[in-house]
Amino acid sequence: METLGSARNTIEILQKYEFNFQKKFGQNFLIDRNILEKIVDAAQLTKEDCVLEIGPGIGTMTQYLAQRAGNVIAVEIDNKLIPILQDTLSDYDNVKIINADILKVDINNIVEEENGGKPIKIVANLPYYITTPIIMQLFESHIALDSITVMVQKEVADRMQAQPGTKDYGALSLAVQYYSTPEIITGVPASCFMPKPNVDSTVIRLKGHNESRLDAAAEAYLFRVVRASFNQRRKTLVNGLANDHNLGITKEAVKTALKGMGLSENVRGETLTLERFIELANILMATNK
Ligand code: SAM
Repeated sequence: METLGSARNTIEILQKYEFNFQKKFGQNFLIDRNILEKIVDAAQLTKEDCVLEIGPGIGTMTQYLAQRAGNVIAVEIDNKLIPILQDTLSDYDNVKIINADILKVDINNIVEEENGGKPIKIVANLPYYITTPIIMQLFESHIALDSITVMVQKEVADRMQAQPGTKDYGALSLAVQYYSTPEIITGVPASCFMPKPNVDSTVIRLKGHNESRLDAAAEAYLFRVVRASFNQRRKTLVNGLANDHNLGITKEAVKTALKGMGLSENVRGETLTLERFIELANILMATNK
């Protein structure tokens, strides 16, 4: 069977199965072989690798992944796509299709069962309506992870790799850069998808850091501080943190912590590096004990 990845053979499959796109599932299928090659190249796959693909659609990228990787686990929410996947992937005996919502599956369990707990590679053309929850879940579940190579909306990729002091810098930048090193692979125009999305896209690779920098409690506290700092963008850090009642920190405590770090009490969250956020969270956590 000819590999998928063109407008012609995508239309053929859609017509054969009378498939209608579901907007609510963020379905925009790739129809550009050049981009598909670039994504699988960026994932640096070998036959030793186990790949988790989120949202295989009609199986276009899954075919490319199955050719290069040892095995592929593809998790797809839309049950109408399952018979299509069984057809388009029938030539590959190293693909397992799971009909489930990626936000509800136990990914640790998949890594354990399918790859003996060794680091997996995640490759996906993500559904844009849940990009951030998916990325956060992958990181926060602390699965054995080599890298995540994903297509996301261009603005989201910009936020993931933003540096302090820029307009895109925020909680997502800090989380992504705490857990990984991001690298932009390529921009992708809307014409590479069917149907065309009304945004531009970017392929980004997040290479996982091997060890956690903090223990679980300190890590959870760090991200509560980060979220509170960016909840009210135009507020100073002192006000942002003191206004978050769940944190239970007083203005005075934040001011003392900032002073101890040699920072002005008028400082804003968007100017602080990840290292400084870690320092601040550690001081506040110790104060709060
Ligand atoms: N990988 C295919 C491709 O590149 O042509 C399809 C990508 S499309 C942007 C996103 C896919 O994710 C769709 O197939 C959609 O049904 C699926 N999807 C959406 N939400 C999902 C979820 N919560 N869990 C698993 N798959 C989901």
